[in-house]
Amino acid sequence: MNHYLSHHTWTEIAALNKTNGVVVLPVGAVEQHGPHLPTLTDTLIVSHMLDAALAALPEDAAVWALPTLPFSKSNEHTGFPGTISLSNQTLNAVLHDIARSVADAGFRRLAFLNGHGGNVALLEAAARDIRAATGLMCFCLQPALLVDPPFPISDQERRLGFHAGELETSLILAIAPDLVHMNSAVVHYADFPDTGTPLFFFGSAATAWLGRDWSVTGVFGDATLGTAQKGEALIASTAQKLATLLTVISSFEGGSNDDGRQTTGKV
Ligand SMILES: [Zn+2]
Repeated sequence: MNHYLSHHTWTEIAALNKTNGVVVLPVGAVEQHGPHLPTLTDTLIVSHMLDAALAALPEDAAVWALPTLPFSKSNEHTGFPGTISLSNQTLNAVLHDIARSVADAGFRRLAFLNGHGGNVALLEAAARDIRAATGLMCFCLQPALLVDPPFPISDQERRLGFHAGELETSLILAIAPDLVHMNSAVVHYADFPDTGTPLFFFGSAATAWLGRDWSVTGVFGDATLGTAQKGEALIASTAQKLATLLTVISSFEGGSNDDGRQTTGKV
């Protein structure tokens, strides 16, 4: 089965049984990833991970991938040339327009597959608004799913290696090695002060950080630890987990009080 929705004709899409099935929107980014990785890194990763997951699906799984949205909310990397950022308002509007089109086609489920940490809060808010506005069951699959390594990494890298470090470098070495400049790979762990409180870049008490405040090169982590072998292992383990998750979502139903109040496309 061809799981790429946009490879099908409108008449084929109209004829799909939509009782089960989920439309997946991969969301990438175009933003600085240090002096050694392409700005397209997040878009390459999320697209490749989804390709690998689709290839691992059971034959009859009703999972339909849209083309990857290449741009998203990247203003934490503003000031680094090549970063292309959509505003909060623009990305929110794009997501709502895509969701409306998906609902109008008669689908019942939409999942965001997010490859970029800067989108997490926005996608969660948009997903709930879309659920309320269109009746679509909406799901957020966040970047933590894509960078859960099946091999040990140091505590320091796990905590502070969240951008262009060991894992992202490994993934691009596996996906697009010609675009990686390992001779420019650097190590940088941001000097976040230990205040004795939960205050950090993320989590329950967070600062709204900008990359340029914490890293001159744009790297957060140890890029020199990246290898294609690690990237391939990470892709293989993530593809299986993602395929299982998407299969479950494809037939997931709402709560038992759900009256199916969809504005269009009720099946
Ligand atoms: Zn990234």
